[in-house]
Amino acid sequence: MNASLLVVQAALYFTVMMSLLRARRVIGVGVFMCAIGVMHFLETYLASVFYIALPFGIISPGSTVLFSGKLFMILLLYMREDALVARQPIYGLLIGNFLIVGLVMVLRNHTTVSVTEGGLPDIAFVDEMGWLMVWGTVLLYVDAIAIIVLYERLGSWLGRHLGLRILLCGGLVLTFDQAGFFMALHFVSGAPWHVFWGGWVAKMFAAGLYTCFFMLYLRYFSVESHWMKDAARRDVFQALTFREKYHALLEISAKDHLTGVLHRRSYEEEAPAYLAENRKAGRPVALLVIDIDHFKQVNDRFGHQTGDQVLKEIAGILTRNLRTDDHLYRVGGEEFVLLCERLTVEGAVSLAERLRRTIEQAQVPGLAEPVSVSIGVSAMPQDGRELSDLFARADQRLYAAKTAGRNQVRGPETAA
Ligand code: GH3
Ligand code: MG
Ligand code: MG
Repeated sequence: MNASLLVVQAALYFTVMMSLLRARRVIGVGVFMCAIGVMHFLETYLASVFYIALPFGIISPGSTVLFSGKLFMILLLYMREDALVARQPIYGLLIGNFLIVGLVMVLRNHTTVSVTEGGLPDIAFVDEMGWLMVWGTVLLYVDAIAIIVLYERLGSWLGRHLGLRILLCGGLVLTFDQAGFFMALHFVSGAPWHVFWGGWVAKMFAAGLYTCFFMLYLRYFSVESHWMKDAARRDVFQALTFREKYHALLEISAKDHLTGVLHRRSYEEEAPAYLAENRKAGRPVALLVIDIDHFKQVNDRFGHQTGDQVLKEIAGILTRNLRTDDHLYRVGGEEFVLLCERLTVEGAVSLAERLRRTIEQAQVPGLAEPVSVSIGVSAMPQDGRELSDLFARADQRLYAAKTAGRNQVRGPETAA
């Protein structure tokens, strides 16, 4: 009976709080946060005096249902929003509890009168509970940071197993919390040791139960749809957390809008590192500078839109021909750099030749004439060990290819 009452409480708590969280775009996230704050008072009251016996020990619904639930809700808030939003209820609870203790210190100096029979205030109790609340919220502060950090850390490891990830975060942090809160209870209210074990088992159950509720929620009530743009390609996680959304955004912003290949800043940021890594390992690296021939004429004769179309088409051809060790960047208007790790100069020249031929044979929609590119090739170690050396060499050879009539490849052995 006691256990099923707990499940009912947890279900009620989860349903209402999750509904408020879900409705935050309509009613504002403040509703959810106020509800958390109000429940905190009941939770502390229950944790200090309201205990029930279960087969495995004595527990308090305040810690089991409400505290575990609150931690869980803060994690969900973080997942749905971000750390800046999740810290609001945490600081609010912390400051509110300190304020309670401060006010009680002032209030206790009153001489009070009784308005109802036997209705005298028990300030000692409020005192005690106030400190318990402060300690509880200090712990909550640590717990909340811990659960968010843990959640992030576990992401790279358990990213696809959302349920397990949440369960593990909850279980670990609630264990830590139980130890911390019990210490306070033990010293303030003299709670006996079996309360620790009973409470711990109950919190583990709570972690399991809330994880199940959340998984059921995701399964049946789905994710707020606008986050799931391309559901087939994303796991539910990418759609859920701010951090993961942020990384996805970073990935997009490293790329050029028109062609979808990495842009110049990415080249400047990552190419030197690729080079250094291979130099250290003694592996060859090749660099191709690819420039579209007479591109200005394409623009002038067919318009900028057609020019853009040609750019996209050529970027597409280059992208489709990449090996895993190749990195393609759009470094200028109609100029690309292809950095090829573990590729010798001979390999690079034949790759360049193949690319040149493929582009020459391609049919650009809306363009009657063929387009061509000229390519300059350089390689480490023969042409230098720094990116600037490799680029300068390849650029010189590109220029040579242009003056020699365009639509050709120039590498070290073909260079004049
Ligand atoms: P060359 O064969 O010597 O390379 O001749 P080119 O006309 O291709 O060379 P140039 O570098 O002088 O001209 C590049 C042109 O590319 C100039 C500019 O109008 C055009 N361009 C640069 N970025 C874009 C773009 O994003 N879209 C379009 N449509 N044109 C662009
Ligand atoms: Mg050009
Ligand atoms: Mg150019």
